[in-house]
Amino acid sequence: MRWINSRQQKRDHNGQRNTCAACGHDGTTHDPLVLTGDGFRVHRSHTTDPKSGLYGAEQRRS
Ligand SMILES: [Zn+2]
Repeated sequence: MRWINSRQQKRDHNGQRNTCAACGHDGTTHDPLVLTGDGFRVHRSHTTDPKSGLYGAEQRRS
């Protein structure tokens, strides 16, 4: 089960389901959105960039 926080749920309901919570751009097939440990959707590239504050933040599947 993957966890989505209440702010992200509101974003989803506002049609921002495919909009990165970190940079505001849409997810793409090349750089899809993933969930962070605190429940936001962000580009996978943020979680794999050591210079990003979101490095390593991708939510682990339980
Ligand atoms: Zn982004």
